[in-house]
Amino acid sequence: MTMLLNLKYEIFPTEEQKDTLNRWLQYCRQTYNSALLDKQRKYRSSKQSYTREDMQRQLTIDKKKYYFLKDMPSQPLQEVFLRLKKAFENLQGGVLIKVEPQYTSQDCSTCGERIKKSLSIRTHICPKCGTILDRDYNASLNILQKGLEHLVVTN
Ligand SMILES: [Zn+2]
Repeated sequence: MTMLLNLKYEIFPTEEQKDTLNRWLQYCRQTYNSALLDKQRKYRSSKQSYTREDMQRQLTIDKKKYYFLKDMPSQPLQEVFLRLKKAFENLQGGVLIKVEPQYTSQDCSTCGERIKKSLSIRTHICPKCGTILDRDYNASLNILQKGLEHLVVTN
């Protein structure tokens, strides 16, 4: 008989460790978003799917380019790719997901910072992480992200 065990640990990080954990979460989020963009681009240009191997290869390139990715352990980033893959496999079956629209146009799709803007402002400019995107495109990334998060949670 096999048994799957799920262990939970409570951790008590120091302030410095909290900073590190937050930074890693941020990288995971950025990696998820950029892998998602690459996936969409590849599909649009060649109708081919962007595989986990492609993501892995891109990560190796990114690690050479962005020094801050180097001090991050690679397992969480691998996990990000796995989640993205699973989310897409689930999507291909055709799923309708209801997403709460609040803040999708205000929140930064890269770092999550909430930036209040009036309807007349068509460009999303994030003072925190420097992301500049068309307002609607930023919102669509947030909606997609919310939908995918929902899938990851429910599956
Ligand atoms: Zn941002």
